[in-house]
Amino acid sequence: MAGKQPEYDYDLFVIGAGSGGVRASRVAAAHGARVAVAEEYRVGGTCVIRGCVPKKMLVYGAHFAEDLEDAKNFGWTIEKPSFDWQVLRDNVLKDVDRLNGAYTDTLENHGVEIIHERAVLTGPHEIALGDGKRTVTARHILIASGARPHVPDCHGHELGITSNEAFHLDAIPPRILIAGGGYIANEFAGIFNEFGSKVTIINRGDQLLRGYDRSLSDRLLQISIAKGIDFRFNAEFRGIEQKGDCLTVSMTGHEDIEVDCVLFATGRVPNTEGLGLDTAGVELGEKGEIVVDRFSKTNVDHIYAVGDVTNRVQLTPVAIREGQAFADTVFGGGNPVAVDHTVIPSAVFSHPPLAAVGMTEGEARNKLGNVKVYQSDFRPMKNVLAGRNERSLYKMIVDADTDRIVGIGMIGPDSPEIMQAAAVAVKAGLTKADFDATVAIHPTMAEEMVLLK
Ligand code: NDP
Repeated sequence: MAGKQPEYDYDLFVIGAGSGGVRASRVAAAHGARVAVAEEYRVGGTCVIRGCVPKKMLVYGAHFAEDLEDAKNFGWTIEKPSFDWQVLRDNVLKDVDRLNGAYTDTLENHGVEIIHERAVLTGPHEIALGDGKRTVTARHILIASGARPHVPDCHGHELGITSNEAFHLDAIPPRILIAGGGYIANEFAGIFNEFGSKVTIINRGDQLLRGYDRSLSDRLLQISIAKGIDFRFNAEFRGIEQKGDCLTVSMTGHEDIEVDCVLFATGRVPNTEGLGLDTAGVELGEKGEIVVDRFSKTNVDHIYAVGDVTNRVQLTPVAIREGQAFADTVFGGGNPVAVDHTVIPSAVFSHPPLAAVGMTEGEARNKLGNVKVYQSDFRPMKNVLAGRNERSLYKMIVDADTDRIVGIGMIGPDSPEIMQAAAVAVKAGLTKADFDATVAIHPTMAEEMVLLK
């Protein structure tokens, strides 16, 4: 009815302007919803501000160390190359500023109101902002508050840093200890090692990159050791003590180690505290994550959650899809859209990088029983001429009964770039015969994929 006041201030209130929250806000607004998004830090979230994007730029920067070394055998003479961390750091941070602006513009151009304050649920449809003096109401609420680094609760933990701070260091630490053996640990180990730090990884278990094929993570371990990174396994973090400018780290099963910097890369925990979720009656899981159904809906009918805060798959492209599916489902006026969380490709931007899609060999054997494994273990042409003794490993796992490819894993230069295309084939259910029928592009590393015997 003309002139009637809307029942709520907004059709959608989003908490968190990261990958999932930004996509959901933008798409919901494009569907005609009145949308506000609260972000207490910067628009863009972990991936853009202190994650994937600046990390990848550091990976590029770090790789020059090897490229400059390799250049000699290609005939280049480069006199005394030197590296200035502050130049790279500041350029990266400048680009982060640019992206922060671009994300802000996108939201504003879609008519999304950005509220730079903390938001807390104070009722099923009510949100308190900032110091709590102002409250707003919304028909639907989306929690997209992400996750934060987990820091072990040990003596002196406050002396360590997390990936958040790694992008802002004043200088490259001569000696750095990295706790954890997952994505962030291996990516930053490669970065700091290339920049000249003495890197030690300590991991509570005996395996790196759990979830990836063991032969790939073993290959990364072997190459990392050859590059000079030290590893200590079955080492539970005990504590840190400051001695002058140095930090002494103690752990189980190994001697203390003295370093200049400690980086915790021991997983990420969902940001669910202090959001008033209990007031709104939203159910949390064992790790504090928001429990959602396949449409990202919580146990409360009008409250949804996407991205890392749900701890389904902590990857940006997944959060983006979840945000899009949520907005299309709730505001698109069509059929509900669920995100397919199967066969998600992923990569670790270590030195060299590693990438995978689908099942590992172990998973396939447990699930299917009858599998065939095709493998290529080769030295890329560029490494041969450079005199770099680093071998790549490609692995294809095939359901022996149907010839369908159920998994691919690879480690070697550009493997994430190659994997993105190969993942389409695995997702589409192609067979080994389909790969065999495809003519190779020669000479490439990727051609190994269609030549596997
Ligand atoms: P990961 O889950 O990859 O690895 C965590 C590591 O820390 C594991 O080795 C784990 O050991 C160990 N660990 C966990 N809890 C403890 C603890 N209490 N004490 C000691 N060690 C512990 O987490 P990250 O922090 O590296 O990254 C977080 C997430 O962010 C990733 O899971 C990934 O989803 C995402 N990410 C993705 C990237 C990409 O796509 N390239 C890059 C960076 C992050 P154990 O194996 O025994 O559990």
